[in-house]
Amino acid sequence: MSGIVYLVGAGPGDPELLTVKGARCLAQAQVVVYDFLANPELLSLAPPQAEMIYVGKKGGDHSMGQEDINRLLCDLAAQGRTVVRLKGGDPFVFGRGGEEASALAARGLRFQVVPGVTSAVAAPAYAGIPVTDRRHSTEVAFVTGHEDPDKPQSTVDFSALARMGSLVFLMGVKNLPLICSRLVEEGKDPQTPAAVVRWGTTARQRTVTGTLADLPERAAAAGIKPPAVTIVGKVVELRRELNWFERLPLFGRRILVTRTRSQAGRLSGALHRLGAAVVEIPTIALAPPEDPAPLQQAARRLGSYDWCLFTSANGVEAFFQALYQMNQDARAFHGVRLAAIGPATAQALQERGLRPEVTAKSFAAEGLLAALKGYDLDGRRVLLPRAAQAREVLPQTLAQWGARVEVVPAYQTVQPEGAGEKLVQALDQGLDAITFTASSTVANLMALLPQNRRDQLVHLSARGELTVAAIGPITADAARRAGLTVQVEPERYTIDDLVEALARHYQEEG
Ligand code: SAH
Repeated sequence: MSGIVYLVGAGPGDPELLTVKGARCLAQAQVVVYDFLANPELLSLAPPQAEMIYVGKKGGDHSMGQEDINRLLCDLAAQGRTVVRLKGGDPFVFGRGGEEASALAARGLRFQVVPGVTSAVAAPAYAGIPVTDRRHSTEVAFVTGHEDPDKPQSTVDFSALARMGSLVFLMGVKNLPLICSRLVEEGKDPQTPAAVVRWGTTARQRTVTGTLADLPERAAAAGIKPPAVTIVGKVVELRRELNWFERLPLFGRRILVTRTRSQAGRLSGALHRLGAAVVEIPTIALAPPEDPAPLQQAARRLGSYDWCLFTSANGVEAFFQALYQMNQDARAFHGVRLAAIGPATAQALQERGLRPEVTAKSFAAEGLLAALKGYDLDGRRVLLPRAAQAREVLPQTLAQWGARVEVVPAYQTVQPEGAGEKLVQALDQGLDAITFTASSTVANLMALLPQNRRDQLVHLSARGELTVAAIGPITADAARRAGLTVQVEPERYTIDDLVEALARHYQEEG
């Protein structure tokens, strides 16, 4: 068994700019060795049991020297491990990936290179600057800005660069004044457009434009620090018409999502696509019911029920877990009629090969009752596996109709560990908006915060400094009862409509 090191480009920051091959390598990794510029979100693509090794490198503060990193990679590969060396951007563009590959090659160890989207191209692209464009420039040079151009040993040929179309400098923030003045000395027009892009492709992206003559001053005034790329050339002018990313409706907004880890994806994804910085802190987690026996019993006797009603996708998931534990599967539902409270619950059933014959449209107990009205439930045995904490209207009404209802707790909701501290931290870093997708998300959020932080939320939302977005009227009411001022409420109660309403809110605000 021989090990292997995949030198994987993590892309420039936007986690969606990882390659498909990079994602596959991460999913197979036993060890991930990563540094400062690789987006930490990507680490969740590795198996939970994979070992994570941070080797740092942020400006001057090197947590581990290059020699030590090379040795670490070699040792891991020699131990027979599958290693992903995750590096920001592309591993072979100023990433010292070449040196790491050489060290592995010298010891006869296996490696593969998975190129990444380099910040040299992506940061300009997200700032609306094509690095080449027939109208303005037919070539581009990627240059390290790290070398001091005044030092005699500098190998950067500024006289050659001064004659080229587009230039992209990486690691050049500190030397920006020197870079610009050397280019002008070598004959480049001081009025040549130039731009610097910090944290490109992320919600923190910041772009400053100017000319070779004034960019250093403007960048300093704007407080530009690494990591940033500098683009020099007429292509920079195209930003005026092509600046697409920074014009996205939610660009740069820090928005809190409090859904459970497994449910957050859709909302977070939709917000991210509109440019938001999503802060995902689940305020509830699912846990098995206190007493699992009733659920197990119900699963064992499934065939004896006439109906089984599901009121959430979580309920479906929990029920199937119980079935699987008894070595059973969807066939246990043979002869049982199925009803789902809404499309998401129906979807969860369909994914397991079951098609409910009743699906309510309104996502609430009342809607499910309305959908069941046409069926004769008198004397029927109805199983209701659901959250331990739930409203009584469904079983009570069914019982009035003569049904023999059995309510079984399938799961319970609990407070995830550390969520309170994370929320306080997020508040301290500043939030632009909070999203609520159910009245329970309001209650759960408030329950996790100390009183003074709850007051803070109330004040910020009253002053319009924090936008509260609620998915529908019941959720909005819950937020108002908690003292919050609700500014965003979509007409239809779906995730997509919520995101759209939030975007419209900010556009109207300007
Ligand atoms: N291999 C990387 C570059 C590593 S050198 C790549 O291909 O992108 C580190 C330099 O990359 C930083 O100093 C900065 O100039 C640039 N950089 C990396 N990520 C960046 C980002 N998101 N925005 C702007 N510049 C970035």
